[in-house]
Amino acid sequence: MPEISGFEEKYSFQDINDAASFIAVETDQKKLILFALKSVAYLVSSERVELLTLTEDFKSVRNSSILSKGEIFTEGKGFTLANTPYEKIINKPVMDVISIPDSPERLCLPIIGSREIVTGLLTMEIAQDNPLKVSTLDQLRMFSTMIGIALERSNYYHLAVYDGLTGLYNRRQFDIRLREELSRITRYGGDLGLLLADVDHFKNVNDTYGHQQGDTVLIELAEVFLITVRNNVDIACRYGGEEFIAILPSTNIEGSRIAAERFRQNCETHPFSGQEEPLKVTVSCGVATINKESAITPKEFIRRADEMLYQAKEGGRNQVRVWE
Ligand code: GH3
Ligand code: MG
Ligand code: MG
Repeated sequence: MPEISGFEEKYSFQDINDAASFIAVETDQKKLILFALKSVAYLVSSERVELLTLTEDFKSVRNSSILSKGEIFTEGKGFTLANTPYEKIINKPVMDVISIPDSPERLCLPIIGSREIVTGLLTMEIAQDNPLKVSTLDQLRMFSTMIGIALERSNYYHLAVYDGLTGLYNRRQFDIRLREELSRITRYGGDLGLLLADVDHFKNVNDTYGHQQGDTVLIELAEVFLITVRNNVDIACRYGGEEFIAILPSTNIEGSRIAAERFRQNCETHPFSGQEEPLKVTVSCGVATINKESAITPKEFIRRADEMLYQAKEGGRNQVRVWE
């Protein structure tokens, strides 16, 4: 362990209170990690701090976020923890110094989540002429506990809000956001569009190429969906199995038709990854729009888009129908 002396500390109680407040409300994992790296680097005056995120089985590192000489970067290359210097930290699990070949010694701290499981590791290079005080080590432990809780909470938040396969907002989030947008237009006016899309003959994809290939198509389709709609404005969700839905704020009937048609075309021309050659996948779209004067319930709004989708299917698929 590094030499220990003194009592004064870099972070005041106020600093720690501010940090706890930030960590308590932040759900963005990237922001939390950046905050953790910067706070720790400052606390121990380290030139290089790493946060290793572990895989679900806690046996491997998924990726490493690194702050080195003020620069942040991520290494996506994972590795198994067995027979590495990190193993002893995981097994105990307490803070200790580890030696990594071809680099200075590092102080390594386990990040412990609920059920006493190590969910990550914080490592920092400490200069030999920079002895750490007892109170610094105590603050480090406190930070790693706070970060551990926050990272775990942000995982749960992610699971509650996003669809596990496609990364789009899930159905529950769609219902919440649709209610919000409907309240907004009934109060402040403006237009609201709803775009419901369903993959054509998707069962054939599964039956011909298997479910895994089907899943890959859905993942790519979500990417096409996200590229099609307006970033940070439209709310793109997975409505059900192979059905996608987007809430289009401040979008009238023409704008919504254009968005749906663009999505239809983007799918038609996208080379979906196939086992031997790219797959052709098309979608049918139903669109409904409302404004303050014509506001209806969420249920009726969805029903109209669904009815248009049904007509698009009946009309021969790979087409857009709009409620007029
Ligand atoms: P249509 O053009 O009328 O929409 O035909 P379709 O085959 O797309 O419609 P149908 O409702 O008959 O089939 C939908 C299929 O979507 C069946 C179901 O197994 C598949 N599906 C739903 N969710 C998933 C998923 O998450 N992964 C995979 N691979 N398939 C899924
Ligand atoms: Mg369907
Ligand atoms: Mg379908």
